[in-house]
Amino acid sequence: MSESRSPAPPARPAGPGAPSGAAATSAVATHCPYCALQCGTWLGREDGTVVVRPSDFPVNRGGLCQKGWTAPALLDTPVRLHNPLIRDPRGTLETAGWHQALDTVADRLRRIRDAHGPDAVAVFGGGGLTNEKAYLLGKFARVALGTSRIDYNGRFCMSSAAAAGNAAFGVDRGLPFPVGDLDDAEVILLAGANPAETMPPLMRHLAGAELIVIDPRRTRTAETAALHLQPQPGTDLALALGLLHLAVTEGRMDEGYLHRRTVGFDSAWQRAVAWWPERVERVTGVPVAAQREAVRMLGEARRRYVLTGRGAEQHSKGTDTVAAFINLALALGLPGRAGSGYGCLTGQGNGQGGRELGQKADQLPGYRSIADPGARAHVAAVWGVAPQELPGPGPSAYELLDSLGQPGGPRALLVFGSNPVVSAPRAARITERLAALDLLVVADFMPSETALLADVVLPVTQWAEEEGTMTNLEGRVLRRRRLSGPPPGVRSDLDVLRGLAIRLGQPPERFPAAPHQVFEELRRTTRGGRADYSGISYERLDAGEALHWPCPAAPPGQPPHPGTPRLFLDRFAHPDGRARFRAVDHRDAAELPDGRFPLYATTGRALAHYQSGAQTREVPELLAAEPESYLEVHPDTAERAGLAEGELARISSARGTAVARVRLVPTLRADTVFLPFHFTADGRANLITSTALDPESHMPEFKVCAVRIEPWTATA
Ligand code: SF4
Repeated sequence: MSESRSPAPPARPAGPGAPSGAAATSAVATHCPYCALQCGTWLGREDGTVVVRPSDFPVNRGGLCQKGWTAPALLDTPVRLHNPLIRDPRGTLETAGWHQALDTVADRLRRIRDAHGPDAVAVFGGGGLTNEKAYLLGKFARVALGTSRIDYNGRFCMSSAAAAGNAAFGVDRGLPFPVGDLDDAEVILLAGANPAETMPPLMRHLAGAELIVIDPRRTRTAETAALHLQPQPGTDLALALGLLHLAVTEGRMDEGYLHRRTVGFDSAWQRAVAWWPERVERVTGVPVAAQREAVRMLGEARRRYVLTGRGAEQHSKGTDTVAAFINLALALGLPGRAGSGYGCLTGQGNGQGGRELGQKADQLPGYRSIADPGARAHVAAVWGVAPQELPGPGPSAYELLDSLGQPGGPRALLVFGSNPVVSAPRAARITERLAALDLLVVADFMPSETALLADVVLPVTQWAEEEGTMTNLEGRVLRRRRLSGPPPGVRSDLDVLRGLAIRLGQPPERFPAAPHQVFEELRRTTRGGRADYSGISYERLDAGEALHWPCPAAPPGQPPHPGTPRLFLDRFAHPDGRARFRAVDHRDAAELPDGRFPLYATTGRALAHYQSGAQTREVPELLAAEPESYLEVHPDTAERAGLAEGELARISSARGTAVARVRLVPTLRADTVFLPFHFTADGRANLITSTALDPESHMPEFKVCAVRIEPWTATA
């Protein structure tokens, strides 16, 4: 099952959009806990069991993938954390009371901070946290701890598209149009995105279009495509330059749009002119005829889109790669035009909101730069502190994790909603760094691999037990509603932050724990920022309004702002209203195959699992569907390595070795292998991944590294 519809919601639903006749309140309208599509659901009880049904929400229209269908299993999973845990002197995690746990954490944080300074304490957040949690976490780090050391796992997810989007358009929002606009597309180019597995209900919005899919693998999405371009890993940028070259030389440019709405084409063309089709074929492996066909399809369609995903982003040149696809879209005249456009398919449930509300190292709430004096003054005023008390920008996620326990690096780390032991590149190294800390605190609802290393574990609420908001891939702010309160012993992350802040000497009113109160403050803080939430309220959302940011507060006496479902229709967000081309050129991946490591390895997601798998590996149906790590490999490549279908393989890179079960995939490039990154122990794909970072977004190069494969033996 990849996606299916439900015949009916659970009994007696109520809430915005409830089917007519709904009267009672045993079911709530909410959203799936996982990916950025944020499918609408009804959550209720039938015969005492929590059940989920898809709602007719615009992004999923009655569909869910198997992750969404099975999400209620997380609510009563046997491994659920129900009490704080403190590691005792023997190294065992023992049950503790909340007061004891929070006192312990605050006391140890204070001592570390007093001895080594505020940057000796670091915070690592997550792209699945609600807007309220992400906001309060950023404030907690900067105000209660005074540290610049805060970043989040969204850095691994969409930061390259954010950097490229900001540079091109003046603002970064995953999709600058509603998902439903894709329904009328004639042609869609998907560069490094596999929604058939990562967000299956999105596929119904793509069903009317001819798809051009760029992916080294013949994914389920590629199987549905009219045209599949299969470049060598790490060469998407050369391919994008080649497509721009052909768009120009074959007369597909929109000259009027270029003149009216953009600047910088000439400098971008100076680079693309050198990427003629035959050269592109030599570098990427994509035949000239296929390049021409892609440009013909895009050029002849009236309603067309260019969409990028992690496959374009997770490179040491990910920002330039996304910029090259934006250049192509601009040359064709797509962004900011009704019926066409460019967008990025975000990954994590609240990757968008998590970034713009202040848990990224260089940003303050409202998508403001932490280095901007005006932004600092505004945010500091709302927070009731002096601007100079706010720290400056800190290191990015991998750099932060890599510095833990090092001389001059953080001695304590607080982790909220993230599992870097599995999700960070060069995972064994990061595990060592975590172990070198004086204090590791993890707030989670599951005993993730990172939580199991912690000195203190704080059990917190999950999706169906909490109120809040999320911001989906189209910049639409959504209400997360709780079906019931948390189980005994569990507190919300907001409660935890408030409890720690008070213990660290902060006034209680500065750290509210009620989601509604936090959102009201967040509205004031984002006011006037690029991601302006000031006109959005729980009341408007609960009344069923579809509100996409920016949604500024209306002046007194004026009707409320309707939100902005479509950005850029009149102008881009740069002061002159024009989009920017960016002069980019191809360069090799940081690591290429050689005699010792002769193959490319690329990593990604599988249909049944989500991110580090800490949640989905605990759902029986999902674990049964995909129980262990696997290695996709071409049959010829496997034979040369002495591997057969179903055997265990060792996959080694310069950083480490992973173990996975062989799957022979004849459609895969013979020079490339693939591993999903959801698994644990020696199945962790990130044991082998590269730590090369994009110089601008600081996103790691998860999509390319050089490896060797061989049969696994217990003694090897
Ligand atoms: Fe929808 Fe994503 Fe949840 Fe699947 S995982 S049901 S696509 S929100």
